[in-house]
Amino acid sequence: MKLAFFGAEGKVGAALVPVLEAAGHEVRGFEIGDEIDVRGLDAAVDFTSPDAAPANVRTALEQGVSCVVGTTGWEPQSLHELAAKNGLRLFVAPNFSIGAVLMMRFAREAAAYFPRAEIVELHNEAKKDAPSGTARATAELIGGDPAVHSVRLPGLVAHQEVIFGAEGQLLTIRHDTTARESFADGVLLALDKLGTLPAGLTIGLDALL
Ligand code: NAP
Repeated sequence: MKLAFFGAEGKVGAALVPVLEAAGHEVRGFEIGDEIDVRGLDAAVDFTSPDAAPANVRTALEQGVSCVVGTTGWEPQSLHELAAKNGLRLFVAPNFSIGAVLMMRFAREAAAYFPRAEIVELHNEAKKDAPSGTARATAELIGGDPAVHSVRLPGLVAHQEVIFGAEGQLLTIRHDTTARESFADGVLLALDKLGTLPAGLTIGLDALL
């Protein structure tokens, strides 16, 4: 596919662009301040910031291009109608790592048996939003309004544990992302399935697995 990549020089972008190119995609990178003209491309990918993503995605949708978005900390619901009206797909996932999506699935399963849980999410100090999109999605999945603890330190990439507690036992479900290339499989899957999705907004890699 011919792709636009918003945030191509960011930490995630720098890791993903070579993997997308190795998989046969042609990637045109966009950075802050670039004039956005994505007309004629097959899809746009956004890994920028919560301030930048809404305008990037709106512009791509207005120019007739479907979007795959990993940027967290913004509300994509407001762009559902624009995508649907233009017959385009807007796919947003708080986590493109397949292991993390399985961690969320297993947590949902455990929640049926353990009424009390807390979430600890740990990310690199550069991450701008807290709690993480994955932690918020996990909290919603398991229900019961669990406390979410956010840790931001150098040395971390992206990690999360869901701790379930009951009298006399603890169950911890943990996922560690040790390199940003872990997000590539999910982005490739989303690009592959993009054309099969209904027009409008789809949230979460779970919908594609
Ligand atoms: P980052 O290193 O700060 O990279 C963001 C990049 O986007 C930077 O190169 C930045 O340029 C650029 N940018 C900012 N505004 C832009 C604009 N208007 N148009 C085009 N590019 C723009 O951040 P990151 O660690 O790569 O993470 C990016 C986003 O992805 C964050 O929201 C993060 O939470 C999210 N994320 C999601 C997943 C997932 O699986 N869903 C995984 C990891 C990260 P400057 O440096 O010049 O500002």
